[in-house]
Amino acid sequence: MDHRADTYIDGKWVENNGEDVIAVIDPSTGQCVATVRESATEDMDRAVEAARRARPVLRAMEPAERAALLERVADQLESRLDEIAALISSEMGMPRKHCANYQVRTAVGTFRNTARAVADVDFAAPLDGPAPSGGSTVLREPVGVVAAMTPWNFPMLQTAAKIGPALAAGCPVVLKPSEVAPLDAFVLAEAFDAADAPPGSFNLLFGNGLHVGEYLARHPGTAMVSLTGSTRAGRRVAEVAAASIKRVTLELGGKSAAVVLPDGDLEAAVERVVRTVLINTGQTCTALTRLLVPFQALPEAERLVAAAMAGYRVGPSGDPDADIGPLASWNQKHRVTEATERALVDGARTIWSYPDAELPRDGYFTSPTAFTVNDPRIALAQQEVFGPVLAVIPYVDEDEAVSIANGTQYGLAGAVWSADEEHALRFAERMEAGSIEINGAPFNGLAPFGGYKQSGYGRELGAYGITQFTELKAIQRHTARGAGATNGARAR
Ligand code: NAD
Repeated sequence: MDHRADTYIDGKWVENNGEDVIAVIDPSTGQCVATVRESATEDMDRAVEAARRARPVLRAMEPAERAALLERVADQLESRLDEIAALISSEMGMPRKHCANYQVRTAVGTFRNTARAVADVDFAAPLDGPAPSGGSTVLREPVGVVAAMTPWNFPMLQTAAKIGPALAAGCPVVLKPSEVAPLDAFVLAEAFDAADAPPGSFNLLFGNGLHVGEYLARHPGTAMVSLTGSTRAGRRVAEVAAASIKRVTLELGGKSAAVVLPDGDLEAAVERVVRTVLINTGQTCTALTRLLVPFQALPEAERLVAAAMAGYRVGPSGDPDADIGPLASWNQKHRVTEATERALVDGARTIWSYPDAELPRDGYFTSPTAFTVNDPRIALAQQEVFGPVLAVIPYVDEDEAVSIANGTQYGLAGAVWSADEEHALRFAERMEAGSIEINGAPFNGLAPFGGYKQSGYGRELGAYGITQFTELKAIQRHTARGAGATNGARAR
């Protein structure tokens, strides 16, 4: 077993000085696979100070040089793909055969997409004034040191989605990965080291949200907090950061609806929806966990859901036949069990459930389950479960479908299915969510990603994601049209 007492600060591997250790548990077995020493206050101060010193260095780099750094990091990670996949599989339980694609290639792709998107950001743009002469140069300057807090469900991908854009904008980062899945962050630090990242541009701390996360959110040396996690954690971080008016972006939970309109391809929709709910054992923020179908199509939808779900096999992460692994932690298992038990009490009807007897005995396994829910106000149709649980909800007409789809506190993602794409588009315009797919269209890694309502605020990915980490500065000039700045100007 690995016992890590080190961390990466100011371009060096140093001792971490916390008193406690994090036990990393393999959720397929319930056994401890590694320990990681937590960071002490002095480590956090050191990391923030190092990041502050790196600000002028990153700012002095051309945007294209910062993009090249991200490409080198991506190269490093890509060269260690299988090793990282095995590590992530052991810390959060996704079957190993899926990890390389879903966990590592997506992270590598996010670094590369961000590098590519740098060219689409106007770091310095001319703006004409209303008068016959005069105008401005509008600069996008890096906001400062970014504290990044990330979750365990796609640990490297979620990290790439924040620190890539932050660095592209010229902001040094202090990363606190999830205490449930901290191991892959060591490899990320090695990748930054091997990619010759300027010292202090990437710093790593370990610990839980209450101690390390809140300390960073409160720290006078951090300018911005970017958190991906639960709505509860997002609310708390926003409260703490408010004391110093820090910029905050929050990527939080979801209860996303897939709406099949009467002329939509029900079979294709069910196949896609079930996949989003089962892959990663339902621990995906954008999972389409509510399937809305026309009332008349409910029996057919139930038949298709049962057939689709029966095609997935649950097993430990090392089992080559396993499509679905365990839940990531004991807490998560407890939470999912509670949600499914409550669903039955609240009147949900089971469509299909994985046979308990076929679940592995050790580890944090749960039975993937689909329910029909006639009352969309019950907890199962309102609250995020973050497990392999689907609610099929019938609707009478399109207005009711809109009202059910929008009738939760969340607004992260959604989907619409219709034979008429224009009709689907009009429906999508009525949905309160940050990212909506039509007829199963693939995810666009350059499009802005983030939530409405209590799914958070701010956007990640692509050029929009980079601009989140910038301040706007308007420099007023006498010069008329085209105040002299060029698109490629330094963020200086
Ligand atoms: P979590 O909220 O428990 O933790 C997320 C991160 O925030 C961790 O690093 C944690 O240590 C930190 N944190 C927790 N409390 C904190 C506090 N008070 N101050 C500062 N930091 C704090 O979430 P989780 O269990 O790791 O992840 C699951 C949740 O994340 C789900 O709700 C899921 O929907 C959400 N999620 C959202 C997205 C998205 O992009 N919108 C992506 C993945 C996961």
